[in-house]
Amino acid sequence: MFNLILFGAPGVGKGTQAKKLVEKYGWIHLSTGDLLREEIKHKTPLGLEADTIMKKGQLVPDEIVIGMIGSALDANPHAKGFLFDGFPRTVAQAEALDKLLTLKKSAISLVLALDVAEEELVRRLLLRGQESNRPDDKDETVIRARIREYENKTAPVAKYYAGQGKITHVPGEGSIEDIFDALSAHVNGKIGQAA
Ligand code: AMP
Repeated sequence: MFNLILFGAPGVGKGTQAKKLVEKYGWIHLSTGDLLREEIKHKTPLGLEADTIMKKGQLVPDEIVIGMIGSALDANPHAKGFLFDGFPRTVAQAEALDKLLTLKKSAISLVLALDVAEEELVRRLLLRGQESNRPDDKDETVIRARIREYENKTAPVAKYYAGQGKITHVPGEGSIEDIFDALSAHVNGKIGQAA
């Protein structure tokens, strides 16, 4: 089983690249942001709780997203791999993910981190806000709060995986196809190593 984490700040292009990567490699795409937005759409108690937090640009509690990922792993016992997008976002989430995968006799294979300058992130998210109905993309204050959450709570996750020798940084500015080719080359390299 190949388990990839696509890592990076909001607006770095994780969702766009995740869609292309799962199409190419046949993995299951697990985006905690998408799972939370589904809960909000269906007005579940969990969705109502998450909605208030997400509108402020803050992270929802670890136990909520860890629970969602645990259920999704259980629901796909025969998956050839998973692509984690927007998860883990804290070191506690990363530790929990390692434990969940160990229980399934698996592990994270590779972490690919996309790097984009902050002003470019803000520009992209404001643009997405005009085209989508995501409330957290419509307000620059909320966008900057999300970037601060990333710096304070999520950036340390990169160190966690660096400690395991699993993270590779890839420039996230350029054409979607060029970035996709760079990500694919790293995946192919890792698959080749394992074969
Ligand atoms: P995203 O779609 O990944 O940009 O996530 C949108 C929002 O959902 C984030 O700003 C957080 O409020 C929440 N969220 C998504 N994934 C996580 C996570 N792994 N941990 C905590 N909050 C999350």
